[in-house]
Amino acid sequence: MEVAEAPGRVSVRARTAPLSGSTARLSSPKSELAEVSPKSAPPETATEAPAAPAVETAPRVLPERKTGIEIERERLQPTRVVPGRAVYRSVLPGILQVPADVIIALARKSSLWPMTFGLACCAIEMIATYMSHHDLDRFGIIPWPSPRQADVMIVAGTVTKKMAPAVRLLYDQMPNPKWVIAMGACATNGGPYTRYDRVLQGVDKIIPVDVYVPGCPPRPEALMDGFIALQNKIMEERRKIG
Ligand code: SF4
Repeated sequence: MEVAEAPGRVSVRARTAPLSGSTARLSSPKSELAEVSPKSAPPETATEAPAAPAVETAPRVLPERKTGIEIERERLQPTRVVPGRAVYRSVLPGILQVPADVIIALARKSSLWPMTFGLACCAIEMIATYMSHHDLDRFGIIPWPSPRQADVMIVAGTVTKKMAPAVRLLYDQMPNPKWVIAMGACATNGGPYTRYDRVLQGVDKIIPVDVYVPGCPPRPEALMDGFIALQNKIMEERRKIG
């Protein structure tokens, strides 16, 4: 600050040189006082409420829908095959690999259709097995009244030599693959009539038998056990059947 003297007047002029440090340059004497004692300024105690952030509403963008040509073009792109990995896993991911003969055998054993015919008292037990108490249907075993679509023959009863050609004819009318269950002692080996010449000593003399169910007569549980044995045989011999 410099003092200029004039005749009859004294004036004080503020220095215009820049101040060092953190103080700002002020031009008025009043603000100069404030510059000199910066600590005497009142503390900033007033807190302003923070302004609410501006909510930007982005425009809603709908997913792009591919045209049919684009979908078809993607579909025709060559599949990227990962080395060391089966091709079908790249082409059809998530596919369970099972041999075809297993699938076919599973279908066959789970949908056996026995032809409905009976020859003697064992047929009553066979009928009881189909009824609601034992319910062969839950095994997928459905009785069928025609040899054209049936694949299982249950020989339930005594096979006489007079009846043998008819049994053979019915067997021949069944499509392949087909299976035979000899139910009871009579169908197995003549049973109680084995000494009679007019009774066939087992139905396996005229047709191949897959499962023998013993008993005179066998209970329904025994026939069901015979069906389970047949199902196991179908799975075991699936490669031979084709
Ligand atoms: S095995 Fe016994 S129950 Fe069955 S058909 Fe022969 S005699 Fe009748």
